[in-house]
Amino acid sequence: GRSSCECNTCYRGRDCSLLLPNCAADADSGDPLFLEPYWQQHAALSAVVVSGWHRMSYRTNGDNFISLQLETHLRLLHEAVGNAVTDGKFIVFGSGSTQLFNALIRSLSPDNDSSSSSLSNVVASAPYYPVSQCVSNPTHALNDDTSRGDFLTFIYQLLLCLQMYKAQTDLLDGREFEWEGLTSDWANASSSPSPSANFIEFVTSPNNPEGTLKRPVLPGSTVIHDHAYYWPHYSAIPAPSDEDIMVFTDSKLSGHASSRFGWVVIKDKGVYQKLNRYLQLNSMGVSRDTQLRVLKLVKVIIAKVKKQDDIFDFGYTTLSERWSKLNKILSSSTRFSLQKLPPQYCSYFNKIRDPSPAFGWVKCEREEDKDCAAVLLKAGIISRTGIIFEAGSRYTRLSLIKTEDDMDLLLQRFESLVSQEEPAV
Ligand code: PMP
Repeated sequence: GRSSCECNTCYRGRDCSLLLPNCAADADSGDPLFLEPYWQQHAALSAVVVSGWHRMSYRTNGDNFISLQLETHLRLLHEAVGNAVTDGKFIVFGSGSTQLFNALIRSLSPDNDSSSSSLSNVVASAPYYPVSQCVSNPTHALNDDTSRGDFLTFIYQLLLCLQMYKAQTDLLDGREFEWEGLTSDWANASSSPSPSANFIEFVTSPNNPEGTLKRPVLPGSTVIHDHAYYWPHYSAIPAPSDEDIMVFTDSKLSGHASSRFGWVVIKDKGVYQKLNRYLQLNSMGVSRDTQLRVLKLVKVIIAKVKKQDDIFDFGYTTLSERWSKLNKILSSSTRFSLQKLPPQYCSYFNKIRDPSPAFGWVKCEREEDKDCAAVLLKAGIISRTGIIFEAGSRYTRLSLIKTEDDMDLLLQRFESLVSQEEPAV
């Protein structure tokens, strides 16, 4: 059970300790509620109170609608954690990193004058986090022997696309950029792109779903480094990242995903100016209330760095334990396998540390288990099919960053699924 006001959907009772029978373990979304107990332990310290007359203006004390204190504290945070070099670089805020991805694609594309025929090609390596790219061709065509799972996936992809397009037609209906799919298609092509080709490559490092550190694969591309998970909760930090475009999000740092706050550390002044213009026209900056709340959270995080009640230590301990429990259950299975992650040296903890990824990337090994998400669903586990990540239906993703109750139920369901396997001969 848990102590906050609402029970997890599968639990009832005053202290949420009654587990409903046959309730599916939901390991679908990457909702970072594993950090909720940390903030419960620091409730007073992290609270923000705002009087009614406070912060009424459009203006902030920094240019471009940003709070100078927050910008300064983000730089201090990166320095304290050692995960990014911000010296000599600009910082721009967005409503989550999601808004920044759109802003970046716009700002990195050639100017949209009528004489320009060049488009930017947006690419990523599979499996990738399908954030601002609505796959223009669903990966599954329908035909006579389409399975139910494939059909559902097809509908799901279509809905994702429709949602995105409906809400953001003008923004995303690429007049200046085109989604060009997987880097592997381009890297292996006989006519590999020349350095002058307008390629924007998304590099999610650590990767979602696998949790491994990644490098760009296309020579000469403009790279957007999505560092949502480049924090000691989720990953070893071998060295500070010193890239030209690095995107971070508070959603995965403190877990306050609904505050919608992300930032990009950016080297190039021209791109910085274009980003600011985009954000001014699009939303006139990020909510000042959000900036105030995030400032408070970041101040607490910095004050605790490398102390006993450090959020990174809490996050790492929680996730590495979850990872090791899941591995233990799957180690007796021949039907399912998990991604392999080695222990790695981390400059933050100054030691070789165990893996603590945000997601489990499960592969169904049996020939007949073609739709791995459907196999898990039958056993009462909701996961996210690998098709969404362009990795095929033999893979599926489990979120390991939700509440303790979600995790307990997931482990329970998986344990009983694995225990039904025929013992290996
Ligand atoms: N990038 C990656 C790779 C993610 O997995 C997520 C969250 N699922 C985000 C970014 C976060 O998006 P936002 O900052 O808009 O909450």
